[in-house]
Amino acid sequence: MNRFDIVIVGGGIAGASLGAELASKASVLILEREDSAGYHSTGRSVAFWEETYGGRMVQPLTTASGPLLRSPDADFSAHTFLSPRQTLHIGRAGEEAARERLMEEFAGRVELDPVDPLQLVPGLRPQWTVGLLEPAVCDIDVAALHEAYLRQFRARGGQLRLGLSLESASRSGSSWRIHTREGVIECGVLVNAAGAWADDVASRSGIARIGITPLRRTVVQLRVPDLPSADLPLIMDLSSRFYFKPEGEGRVWLTPHDEEPSLPCDAAPEELAVAEAIARFQDVVDWRIEAVERKWAGLRSFAPDRAPVFGFDEAVPGFFWFAGQGGFGIQTAPAAALLGMSLLTGDAAVAPVAGIDVRAYSPKRFN
Ligand SMILES: Cc1cc2nc3c(=O)[nH]c(=O)nc-3n(C[C@H](O)[C@H](O)[C@H](O)COP(=O)(O)OP(=O)(O)OC[C@H]3O[C@@H](n4cnc5c(N)ncnc54)[C@H](O)[C@@H]3O)c2cc1C
Repeated sequence: MNRFDIVIVGGGIAGASLGAELASKASVLILEREDSAGYHSTGRSVAFWEETYGGRMVQPLTTASGPLLRSPDADFSAHTFLSPRQTLHIGRAGEEAARERLMEEFAGRVELDPVDPLQLVPGLRPQWTVGLLEPAVCDIDVAALHEAYLRQFRARGGQLRLGLSLESASRSGSSWRIHTREGVIECGVLVNAAGAWADDVASRSGIARIGITPLRRTVVQLRVPDLPSADLPLIMDLSSRFYFKPEGEGRVWLTPHDEEPSLPCDAAPEELAVAEAIARFQDVVDWRIEAVERKWAGLRSFAPDRAPVFGFDEAVPGFFWFAGQGGFGIQTAPAAALLGMSLLTGDAAVAPVAGIDVRAYSPKRFN
C-alpha cells in the first residue's frame, strides 16, 4: 500500500515515540533514510534525565516524562528506563551568582540543594568550592527506550521503512505526495521529525524554514583508573564549559559542552574539541587519564528560542512540525509524544501532559 493517513519523516526518538502514540489511531508510516533508526542524534546522546537541563521552557516536558520513564506500562516495557545518578552543579569560588540564578529559575519546581562539592567528590581540585546538588537526576537506557517505541509502533500496525528518504513532497488537494527513489507515497499528514534535517525537509516540501540550527557536540570516553566510584554524580559546570559522568568502573563520558554550528551531516569529533575537553577535565579533578577509549559527536538541533517546535505549520495544511529537540529530546520524549498526538489528532491532552501550555511550542510563534 502506498497511501497512509500519516507519514513521519525520521525514525529517531522523536519519530518513533510519536509514531507509537499515533499508530493505534491511524495508518502510519515512518520513513527513515538510514539503515538504522538510531544512527544520528538518538544514538549519540549522553543519556541522562535532568529537569533543569534546557531551561524553564523544557522543564515541564522533562518533569512530565519522569514517571513514564521510571514506571512504564507493563505492555510497553517490563523494566524501568531510569537509574539514579544525581547531578552536582559546580563552580569556582566567586561563581556563587550562577548557583543563585539556577536556584531562582527552578524555585518551587525542582529540588536543588546547596552543598560543598569538595565533600562529595574525592580528587576535586580546591578551587571548586561552589556546589548545588540536583538529586532526582537519572541515567536513561536510551537504546531500550527507542527500541520499546519502535516495538510498540509495529505492534499497533505501524510500518517502518528503513533506507528510504523523502526526496521532495508536494501538496495536492487534501493529500501529500512524497517522492522517494522508489516512487510516490501519499498521505494526509506529513510529520517532520527529521532532527538536524528539519529545515531541509521543510524546504523540500515547499514549507518556509524556521531556522532550526544543528549544533555539534563532542563526547569523549576516558579510561580513568583512579575514578573513586562509578556511582558519583554527573558533574556539570555552572558556567557550561563541561560536564562528565561515570560510565561504569574506571570510565567517564566527558564533553566540553561545545555548540559548533553545522550543516546537517554525519557529525564527527574535531581534535580541538577533544583536547579542550581533556584540558577542562584536568582543571577539575586530579584523576589520572590512562586512555581516550572512544570519541564521537552528534548534532543537537535548536529553534531560534531553543524551545521545541510541535504543531501544524500555519501556511500549508497537513504539515506537522515535531522538531528542535536540542539536547533534551530523549528525556522529554514520552511527554512530547503525548502532546504531539493530541495536537495532531485534536484529542484532549491526557495526564500527565494535560496542564502543559503547548502554545510555547507552536511553530506559529515564529511568524
Ligand atoms: C552528544 C549529545 C548528547 C546528548 N545528550 C542527551 C541527554 O543526555 N539527554 C537527552 O534527553 N538528550 C540528549 N541529547 C539530545 C538528543 O539526542 C536529541 O534531542 C534527540 O536524539 C533528537 O531526536 P530526533 O529523533 O529528533 O533526531 P535523530 O535521532 O537525529 O533522528 C532524525 C532522523 O531523521 C532522518 N532523516 C532526516 N532527513 C530525512 C529524509 N529526508 N528522509 C528520511 N529520513 C530522514 C535521519 O536519518 C535521522 O535518523 C544529546 C545529543 C547529543 C548530540
